[in-house]
Amino acid sequence: MKSIVIFLLAFSLLSCEKKINVVAMNDKTKIFHKQDCPKLMMANVRLITVEEAKQRGGKPCPNCKPETR
Ligand SMILES: [Zn+2]
Repeated sequence: MKSIVIFLLAFSLLSCEKKINVVAMNDKTKIFHKQDCPKLMMANVRLITVEEAKQRGGKPCPNCKPETR
């Protein structure tokens, strides 16, 4: 029981430190952008993590160059 509590603690600390990188991905073009990209059109856009965007076959926008890690 104790080990589970320690694990959860460590996990929540980790997720706090590691800033989760959220990008705006266009479902149609499969290109993901930084949230303030001027090329970003709000239609068909969803906010997801970079990890998820890559899993869905997304490509980073050449204009705003979102971080891919
Ligand atoms: Zn962009």
